[in-house]
Amino acid sequence: MHNRKSQLLIISLVLFAGMLFAVSISAREPMASTTPSLKEVALTFDDGPYGTSTQAVLDILQKEDIHATFFLIGRNVEKYSSLTKEEVNDGELIGNHTYDHPKNLPLMTLAHIRSEISKTDTAISSSTGIHTKFFRPPYGRITNRVRGELHKEGYTIVMWNTDPRDWDYKGAPSDAIVNRILSHLKDRMVIDLHDGRDTHVGYPRDNLIKALPILIDKLKADGYTFVTVDKLKGNFIQ
Ligand SMILES: [Zn+2]
Repeated sequence: MHNRKSQLLIISLVLFAGMLFAVSISAREPMASTTPSLKEVALTFDDGPYGTSTQAVLDILQKEDIHATFFLIGRNVEKYSSLTKEEVNDGELIGNHTYDHPKNLPLMTLAHIRSEISKTDTAISSSTGIHTKFFRPPYGRITNRVRGELHKEGYTIVMWNTDPRDWDYKGAPSDAIVNRILSHLKDRMVIDLHDGRDTHVGYPRDNLIKALPILIDKLKADGYTFVTVDKLKGNFIQ
């Protein structure tokens, strides 16, 4: 009688352990069979090239072994021609961000818009030999009329879906830049950053330069692949 009870207890324990094992296997299975989501991030830098700030950004990108996209102001390209060339030589993608960084592109005549774009194209091609077909409107201001004109000229318009407002120097210390991005993670991100600021002189960029390596390391640890905007699809590419 006693033996019979022990046998039943042992059988029950073995069955129970078997069940636990089966449950633990089935709990793992869905994760193993699910295709991992593709996390891609494009770092984009506007309003440069901008002297030592742009140089610092390029150095960080090289050290981290990643590439980014730079939307250049024609006037700054003329001032920092060799830096523009270095961006291309490093393998970064460059785009057109107008010549003078006008406040409101949609209010301008088509002739004026064309001249903003073509003057920048001339500056970029004289420095690098490249005619870029990527364009970002200053302040993201665009209308169907401007979009139509740019498409006619063969441009792809690149907006963004993540904005840490890093240009606001006092309002965006480095930890705020990092936190604003990491608290709004998406599978595909185009982050709007600034290595310069339109045509200002002496504009400090140390908040961004301090934030950048921290941000890149966290995104890498989270499984993100760094891409230039020509590799991305989404409603921010128009
Ligand atoms: Zn800008």
